[in-house]
This record gives sequence, structure tokens and C-alpha cells, in this order.
Amino acid sequence: MRSIARFVVDTHCHITTLYQPATEEGWEKVEQCEWSGLEYELEPFDNSFLTMYDMERYGVDMAVLLPSIPGTTNESQAKLVKRFSNKFRACCSDQMTILKAIRGEEQWAFKAAIQEVDEALKTGHFVGIGEFAPGSSAYHRQLPGAEGKVDFDKRVDEWAAICELGVKYDVPVLCHDQFIFERDWKLIDMLVKISEMNPDAKIIQTHGAVEDEGIRGMDAIRDMYEIVGTLDNVYMETGGWSEKQFEIAFEVGVTANQLMWGHDYGNVPQHIVRKTIGKFGPMKKELEYRNTMSLMTFGYKNFPAVPTYQPDFYGWGLRTVDRVGDWLTQDEINLIMGGTAAKLYKLPVPYPRMFPEGRPDIFGDKWRESIPYLPDDQIQHPENVRMSQSSFEFTKEEKKI
Ligand SMILES: [Zn+2]
Repeated sequence: MRSIARFVVDTHCHITTLYQPATEEGWEKVEQCEWSGLEYELEPFDNSFLTMYDMERYGVDMAVLLPSIPGTTNESQAKLVKRFSNKFRACCSDQMTILKAIRGEEQWAFKAAIQEVDEALKTGHFVGIGEFAPGSSAYHRQLPGAEGKVDFDKRVDEWAAICELGVKYDVPVLCHDQFIFERDWKLIDMLVKISEMNPDAKIIQTHGAVEDEGIRGMDAIRDMYEIVGTLDNVYMETGGWSEKQFEIAFEVGVTANQLMWGHDYGNVPQHIVRKTIGKFGPMKKELEYRNTMSLMTFGYKNFPAVPTYQPDFYGWGLRTVDRVGDWLTQDEINLIMGGTAAKLYKLPVPYPRMFPEGRPDIFGDKWRESIPYLPDDQIQHPENVRMSQSSFEFTKEEKKI
């Protein structure tokens, strides 16, 4: 069966998220059509068989599982990795610290959160920190009685501790600070700061989210991508991107080795709909460049608060990349669809030489360091197919390039 790329990774997958709240309070919210899936504990649900069916149908080789909504645990992700180790890897976060806060057992504290992540990484079962790195899953720290506003300098310090863990265990850290609602600082300023202060950390901007996108539309997107393009250690997920967003990214200097494909598969409070459905309030006009949208259920008036079916993220997301393939090279698409993820998350790939390497247009002046793109220990069938070392001896003329 034809697949969209040589090796395809869904880098933002939830397969134990809710199908129902775990508390009465949550059910009340559902009845009032106000359930957001974020504030209350949920009843985890193992959706792995439908996910694996979708992966098979759409040609997705592996998925990175992210614990996110309160009630999903690091352990449940690790169990799935153990059961289906050729399909899944998992990230970890401060899930129990959040759960205790949501249950009213213990106030959320950054120190406890970071300790929980450290303990989880120590097990060797996890490949990254996220979806919400400690402190960015906002509700529990901004509810009445909690610590409230998180100022810029405080968050920079928190990021130093998160990045320290990322570097210590050599795993990427996921930045989802767009969910720190009450803040007087900009997301992009934080990304620049943490990138500069933690040059050895690998920082992934979840959802490739752009602040003010709903207000300034394309201008906001262009401004943000332009800056990200200059940051060597910042990566963006392309989940939910329209073709236009890919176009802008490549126009302003983002390269394929900074991008990774992945949506929010399995995040059940989401629907994917046509924009003509309306009811988007102020977002409708500004996001006109998208023909279809993925939004949390509370964005749609009169929709059920919890969808009763699994919205199809893969077919939706793959078709966008198909259109991008009209002007982007397949080798770059191979990075976006799996190569970047394989490198960051150290995923096993079938053969050497599957991904572009040594290309100045992608790797800039670090093109030599990009050969080989992946080390031998990630290659399942390394049989003798690497080019011999002598092929890398450059002539004097070539060295000047
Ligand atoms: Zn997510």
C-alpha cells in the first residue's frame, strides 16, 4: 500500500484520553455542554486498537503517545509501549501532581512536578517531556486559591529546570505554554529566551501554535515562523496546519528538519469540521484560509460536549501534506513525516540512508554534522548499505563550499 513517506510518525497521539468524565462535577459540565476535557478528571479509555487500525490504513508506522488531560497517567502510556513496542513510544509529565491538585488533595507545586518527571525518566520508559511540560497545564495553577499569574522570569526559571532534565536524559521537551492563559508575556518571547538559555535542549512547540493567530491571522503566523526559523534547537509540530502555513514556513526560513507531523489524535473533545459550520465567534473571519478546522467541542454551539465517535485526524492531516507535495521535495517531506521525529525521539527505522543528510539547504552550515542523519544503533537493518567512509573525503575545491 502506498504511504505518504518512507517512515511516518504521528508525534502527537492520545489513545487513553477521555470518553467520559470521572467525576460528578464533570458530568454536570457535560450536561451543560461546557465540558472542555481540561479541568476535571477523566475516565481513561484504551483506544489503542482503533488507533492501530487507523495507523495501518493510513500508513503511519509509529506514534508518540502524550499523556495530557488529567486522569491519563504516565504509567498507562508506558504499558502501551510495552505491549506494542514496534508501534508506540511515550512521553511523560507531572500527571499525578496534577491529578492530586484537581482532586483537591494537594496544591500543585513545580518542585513536586519536576520531581515526578525526573522519577519517570529514570525508568527509561519515556522519550520526552510533555504534552504539557510541568507548569504549562494551566487550570490547576490558575484556579482560585492557586498561585495565579505566572510571570515571565519565573517561567524562564521553570524552563531552565525542565530543560535541565531534558538534557540530562537526552530527550526533547514539549512547550505548550499557550495554555498558560493569564500571562502578560508572549509565547514567542518565551521560546526565544528558553532556546537561548538552554542551547543543548531540544524544544518542541506543540501544535506549532501561534499567538494572536485568531486576531492577526497570517501576519502573526509569518512573524512567529520567521523567528523560529532562526532558532536551531526549536521544532514545531505541524498538526492542524493548512497548506498556507507550510508555504509561509518555508518562505521565511523554517527548514524541514525543524518540523514534525502530528495532530491531536484521540483528543476526544475535538471535532474536525468545515468552516461553514459557523459559530466560531471572532475566529471565523481571521481563520478563513482554512477550509476545515479542528477545535475543542466547546468551540461549537449546540454540539455534544463529548463526541461519540473518533474524528479522523489522519485522513485530514495527510491530505494537507499531499498538497504540500506539489511544491516541496519528497526528501523534505520525509523529514517532516518521520525523520525529524526519528532523530529527536531516537526511533528505530528500517534502513540507513532513508533521510536527507549533508544538504546545506536543510542543515545550513551544519550540513557536515548531519551525516549520517541517524546513528547505527537506530537502524534495524544496517547491512552494509552505508556509503564507505572514503566517499566522504572531499577535494580541496569541495571543502570551500
Ligand atoms: Zn494534545
